[in-house]
Amino acid sequence: MDLRADFPILATRIGKRPLVYLDNAATTQKPLVVLQAEQHYYEKLNSNIHRGAHYLSRLATEAHEQARSAVAEFLHASSDKEIVFTSGCTASINLVAQTLALSGMLGAGDEIIVTTDAHHSNIVPWQMLCQRVGAVLKPVPLTEEQTFDKAAYEALLSPRTRIVAFPYISNALGVVNPVADIIAAARRNNPDTLVLVDGAQSTGHQMIDVQQLGADFYAFSGHKVYGPTGTGILWGRESILSALPPWLGGGEMIREVSFNGTTYNDLPFKYEAGTPNICGNIVLAAALQYVQSIGIAAIESHEQRLTAALCDGLEQLSGVRILGPKTGRGALVSIVVPGVHHYDLGTLLDQMGIAVRTGHHCCQPLMQALGITGTTRYSFSLCNTEEDVQRALDATDRALSMLK
Ligand code: PMP
Repeated sequence: MDLRADFPILATRIGKRPLVYLDNAATTQKPLVVLQAEQHYYEKLNSNIHRGAHYLSRLATEAHEQARSAVAEFLHASSDKEIVFTSGCTASINLVAQTLALSGMLGAGDEIIVTTDAHHSNIVPWQMLCQRVGAVLKPVPLTEEQTFDKAAYEALLSPRTRIVAFPYISNALGVVNPVADIIAAARRNNPDTLVLVDGAQSTGHQMIDVQQLGADFYAFSGHKVYGPTGTGILWGRESILSALPPWLGGGEMIREVSFNGTTYNDLPFKYEAGTPNICGNIVLAAALQYVQSIGIAAIESHEQRLTAALCDGLEQLSGVRILGPKTGRGALVSIVVPGVHHYDLGTLLDQMGIAVRTGHHCCQPLMQALGITGTTRYSFSLCNTEEDVQRALDATDRALSMLK
């Protein structure tokens, strides 16, 4: 699979050679069809949506709601009502945490379980909720192999457990968490426990069927799936979204407003106060349709091949330690090299035209648990090639020989 030509930005040259972009876990590049969808929106459709009597408003409203249906189809959601447009994965998780804080459903001594490999955006909103209602945050530790510790998790589940939140795939380790087992254990413990899956690193890399998954919430960012920044999705189970109160108040989320009281709109509009990112949401749907046109199964096997080849090659380089398990990982590889600072390695790789990410990857508690300050992370998307892997390996070898 070689789709580099679909991505205009990959024509960028660093020195004499084309850029090798391996920072897809931070954000993906955009294919031409996505750029064209944005231009099409502003040339042909732009107008504020809902309530407009005029032609363009009808067109924009239709395109926006079709985009919602496209997202619902992509996630295999049972209804468009379960698809809330947000500004990103972070906003989606905050929306859940804040509505739960307002709901009065959680109280002092209730427990929220998160994982050590969680991104800050799946830790801090829960800490804020805990501070507000007096609940307690309980992190699941990692096993020696840096995977999800099922036994420790099951020991943490208690009659006070109200929420379990975890990443499907860790953005710093690449570990694929055992979603089905985590959810099943939470339900066995208490069928009313709410489960949130952070899908920032799984969406676009493998098939997602939220009905099969069995969680209550699934969050992801559009910009990590070839869509625009400032877009994201919260999928929520309809019965739960209906029962929770709104968070942001304003236009669009209301049915009727008076100084005697206000009633709220139906789902999903109850959670979409104000003018949404109309263009962004429409373009996000175009990005998901691009993914579907390539085929999620083909993307997954392509990325898995590249990831395995990169792991095999990195293992041959002296001193390189790959974090996380060899198999059962997402499309990213994080390494540490004792005696070499990740920032120095990243800088040298950049000079050789290889874009990687270095640092704590917004996972400071994970770094603390591992006793490191950061890693060098190579992450794939459908636009990467075998040649990218080889160039990354050659460059890493060269950079390490300069640094050691
Ligand atoms: N969760 C995970 C696992 C992530 O990798 C990221 C982004 N690095 C986020 C959440 C937050 O995404 P965003 O910054 O787009 O809201």
